[in-house]
Amino acid sequence: MEMQNIFERIEGMRGEICETLSKLISYPSYRQEPAEGAPFGKPARECLDKTLEICRELGFKTENIDGYAGTASFTDGEPLLGILAHLDVVPAGDGWTLDPFKAEIKDGKLFGRGAMDDKGPAVSVIYAMKALKDSGVRLKHGFELIVGTDEECGSSDIAYFKAHAKTPRWLFTPDASYPLINIEKGHIGARFTAKASSEKLVYLHGGRTINAVPASASAALKGVGEEEISAAIKKAGCTVKFEVKKAGEETVISAVGTSAHASTPDVGDNALTALIKLLSLIDLGGEAGERLCALAREFPYKETDGKTAGVAMKDETSGALTLAFSILDYENGEFSGGIDIRFPICGSVKEVSKRLGAALERAGFEHKIGGSEPHCVSADSPFVKKLLSAYEAVTGKKGECLAIGGGTYVHGTEGGVAFGCEIEGEDNRIHGADEFIRVDALIENAKIFAEAIVRVCEEE
Ligand SMILES: [Zn+2]
Repeated sequence: MEMQNIFERIEGMRGEICETLSKLISYPSYRQEPAEGAPFGKPARECLDKTLEICRELGFKTENIDGYAGTASFTDGEPLLGILAHLDVVPAGDGWTLDPFKAEIKDGKLFGRGAMDDKGPAVSVIYAMKALKDSGVRLKHGFELIVGTDEECGSSDIAYFKAHAKTPRWLFTPDASYPLINIEKGHIGARFTAKASSEKLVYLHGGRTINAVPASASAALKGVGEEEISAAIKKAGCTVKFEVKKAGEETVISAVGTSAHASTPDVGDNALTALIKLLSLIDLGGEAGERLCALAREFPYKETDGKTAGVAMKDETSGALTLAFSILDYENGEFSGGIDIRFPICGSVKEVSKRLGAALERAGFEHKIGGSEPHCVSADSPFVKKLLSAYEAVTGKKGECLAIGGGTYVHGTEGGVAFGCEIEGEDNRIHGADEFIRVDALIENAKIFAEAIVRVCEEE
């Protein structure tokens, strides 16, 4: 098969591709109240129905898996390869200068919620299929597009799909970045609590979500002199900004650092661990003072590999474990906190949980720890090599495997990798205001997918 012929067909459908994507963007398919046949709300179901309707009009067989997911295929026989994309989106949020659910093309960019994440990539797959079908190519192995409707809120769509349909041997999701992600670290989430009385600590608050390095934290003290606080700030030597204010009988200390995703804690400057360090240098006395000193000892400020807590580990293929101390609250004599860990493929949920649990116990905390194992598809597998060669053939760029700390749509699905569609150096404002995809990227993605389908499913 002359791929050039298929690429020209894709180029020729530029207008249709933008039109279809605009149609799908018009559904506000973020998670809403479930309804009959619409487990994630009506708009998500309608967007799924519309997508499958378009696929049928283009000549594909489709199947609707009870409103959770759908499939479309132009080949006969059992699919060897699946491309998994999602039609649900996150809510619009603030700051849009355009209507998030009315697509608009400006300067070669198509704007709208879901343009890049993940309706655009889904549409590119559909037109890659259309070009292949129209060219009359005959493939040795079957292929299908799988579209889900709950990626943003826990991927229960895929759990349902796995239970009610057959998952292809090989799978890729165009829901992350190029070139290709074959390793996703394991994940641990820990919640911990301790009762602790205090005469001097009134409250402490830092961090709200467990998967982010907190950019701010604050604590109120009673009966502590400002001089002692200033001396402690000096001694702590933190790079966050501390501010001390009198509020009646209380002195409020706030810390402002830099946020980061929990999978890259070294990029941030943790305001919470800085504040804990500072408080550990002030004589607070009582149980609360002791607990804070113990936390400062086990989880030192600026340490993001969990070395002191005894959880550090690394391997060559997936890198080092990362630890983000993300939440701590103290109120009414009780601490509650959260820690997020991403661990390399040499570790396991059991081992990391055990080590982290021991550190928390040494600090005097009760805990609940859970997580998911690392996800890995060998970089040497023919599947991965074929995808990378397709990427290289279309883009002329070097294809290589990446390991990340975050989890993608295929985490836990055997034989699944993430392939596309973000590229280094371009911010498509995924989950933010004025999300967009370049129209050229929509076309190029379709070419990459067509090339990948032919290479993996092979011509007859
Ligand atoms: Zn996504």
